[in-house]
Amino acid sequence: MQPTSNSNGVALNQPSKSFRNPPWWNRRTRLERGLLVSACVFFVTCAALVVALASTNSALRVGPNSESMPSPEALVDDGAEDTEPGICNTKGCVRTAAAIIQNMDEEVDPCDNFYEFACGGFVKNTIIPDDKTQMTTFGILNDKLDEQVRILVEEPVKPDEPKPFQLVKNLYQSCMNKSLIESLGVKPMNEILKKLGGWPLLEPNWDPTTFTWIESVYRFRKLGYSNDYFIDFSVTTDVKNSTYRIIDIDQPALGLSREYLTKGLNESEVKAYHKYQVELAVLLGADRTTAVKDMRDALEFETQLANFSLPREERRNVTKLYNPMTISELQEKFPSIPWLEYINRLLPEKVQIASDETIIVTVPEYITKFQQLISQTDKRVQANYVMWRAAASSVSYMSESVRKLQLDYTNTLTGKGEREPRWRECTSVATARSKSGRISLANAVGALYVRRYFKDEARASAMEMVTDIRKSFLDILKEIEWMDSLTRGRAIEKANSMETHIGYPKELMEDSKLIELYDGLEMSNNDYLGNVLNLTTFGTDYAYRKLRERVNKTDWISHGRPAVINAFYAPLENSIQFPAGILQGVFFDSERPRYMNYGAIGWIIGHEISHGFDDQGRQFDADGNLYDWWEPTTKNAYLRRTQCIIYQYGNMTAKEVNLKLNGINTQGENIADIGGIKEAYRAYQSWVQRNGQEQKLPGLKYSSNQLFWISAANVWCNKYRPESLKLRILTGVHSPGEFRVRGPFSNMEPFSKDFNCPNTKPMNPKEKCSVW
Ligand SMILES: [Zn+2]
Repeated sequence: MQPTSNSNGVALNQPSKSFRNPPWWNRRTRLERGLLVSACVFFVTCAALVVALASTNSALRVGPNSESMPSPEALVDDGAEDTEPGICNTKGCVRTAAAIIQNMDEEVDPCDNFYEFACGGFVKNTIIPDDKTQMTTFGILNDKLDEQVRILVEEPVKPDEPKPFQLVKNLYQSCMNKSLIESLGVKPMNEILKKLGGWPLLEPNWDPTTFTWIESVYRFRKLGYSNDYFIDFSVTTDVKNSTYRIIDIDQPALGLSREYLTKGLNESEVKAYHKYQVELAVLLGADRTTAVKDMRDALEFETQLANFSLPREERRNVTKLYNPMTISELQEKFPSIPWLEYINRLLPEKVQIASDETIIVTVPEYITKFQQLISQTDKRVQANYVMWRAAASSVSYMSESVRKLQLDYTNTLTGKGEREPRWRECTSVATARSKSGRISLANAVGALYVRRYFKDEARASAMEMVTDIRKSFLDILKEIEWMDSLTRGRAIEKANSMETHIGYPKELMEDSKLIELYDGLEMSNNDYLGNVLNLTTFGTDYAYRKLRERVNKTDWISHGRPAVINAFYAPLENSIQFPAGILQGVFFDSERPRYMNYGAIGWIIGHEISHGFDDQGRQFDADGNLYDWWEPTTKNAYLRRTQCIIYQYGNMTAKEVNLKLNGINTQGENIADIGGIKEAYRAYQSWVQRNGQEQKLPGLKYSSNQLFWISAANVWCNKYRPESLKLRILTGVHSPGEFRVRGPFSNMEPFSKDFNCPNTKPMNPKEKCSVW
């Protein structure tokens, strides 16, 4: 039979009539529909504005206690004839509806693929700009934040301005001073490489007797370069005694991720990496043949480091990584490195250790293998490797000829074909957070940001939602059948004692605190590389100096970097953090219905709370100490549940790149996503019980509950370049956006109920996984 356009569709399993468009609508072309929707939204906007103006703001004014949403009465729009009761027509609601409509593709059955239903329009209509690797709702908000920061840092330095703000502006100006940077060419790079000991392939008379890898580490530390290229060194919180700090040595982060390097020299990313090494060396003056050979040897050395580094999958068990030993024991076990001297040379002079100091060796096997490898490796290879790393880390601060090589290389890894605008790069340098425990200018930028842009009303609303969502997590804990009462009691205690940081700490309003924090740091407005090296040295000194200081878990400094679109759970503090940057836009808006906020920032809040109980977070107790508080039977039940999630996500395939997700590496995030959405949904249901049903959105037929799910999905609308998607799947801990929607939702009974999804549909599979 000839299928007609109607019988060929998804009509038979269409979940509910409310999703179907009327037939005349189906007959419109895409353009006509788009125009109609735009026209409707425009009309509704105008109507709302007219009413708002005519009624002297009464429709828009919000009472003192209703900062998130006007009360239902105030919203009934008796002046507009085109609306039915129960539709919210405030500006906030119209704006919200327009954004949803733009992102969605209503031709997709929400029970087949909810991500395509909610984000299909976004995917179809979004073009990834040449200077971006991906487009996400996070990224769009980030761009806005960058613009706000740009305005702040481009304002001229005022004579009486506190020094921390001058530092930020100077760093930004030194980065923007392109003509100076261009006029210097590769000179600053050649000079600094000489000071660091010289890159052998650039030095015809390089003398191997002048080089030891250990001396190179000392020199790097002194000049503001990373001292972590051979062995990672840090001063960090002691995970078993989390009010104290301890020294930790670990395998290093490599120049190209382990996941690529271990595939061998024929892998396209590895080839591109080698090409980048050679081209950079040649540009700095090396002979091409020498560069090809030398960097090939260095790459083989780095590949060996990759081969015996512990894979990510095996780094999730924190107990396995906790290997305390004294310096004497370390010396006995790994005799080729003079540990006491090595560590004391990295630490500031005022903070020195003796041989009875206990430190943590995260991966002892790495140190063993490293000792063997380095003793068999030609010094020229060692030096070429580490000088390459130093050169590569300086490329961003050089002239365009050098930066072009970096772009060609990252193009292979991410697909990005152009650099972002200079100002954006320069604001990122100013706002960057550094390696944990180190200080950057993020606190000063954060202070500028919140003083100008943060609306304090967001803080109270977010706090209220945290209370609600924590309560629903506690309710879930009480209902769970697979937990024994002892473990349950400890889990409840942990959830109750979780500290919350919202917006920013009040100290960011005090100039004196910031001045004290940055005491001793200098930034000139015409030495970009010099500034970055200064900042690294300052930040590293700051972190290492803390070795003998007790940990202040509510410290304003580590919680005072609010100019960021992100949220955090800190297992060692047992704390959740929602910086000012994320309390806006698609995540939170006080002028739209609560179901939108619960679906978005509410889900994020639930996600962070659940991190305290994911496969890694659960290894820490209520005080943030690594301690096994699980009764064996409950632990086994927990592990069976995580296994379900590992298997489920591990069998999801990103079609564009034909790669399966890594179920093990993403399990923590997936557990948090699944738990988080459930907590947020339940919290919203109880909000409705207390406050009553909310109005719907104009131009959309969906119920409040349905809009909750649509709002949640909108958080993850995204489009990746294929290279960038591959990079994320191979090296990331988060599942790509599409799976952060499909995974959690398909595990939720209430989702299927709200959209009437039969159990024959992909979004309502029989086998569902969840931990919380
Ligand atoms: Zn997370």
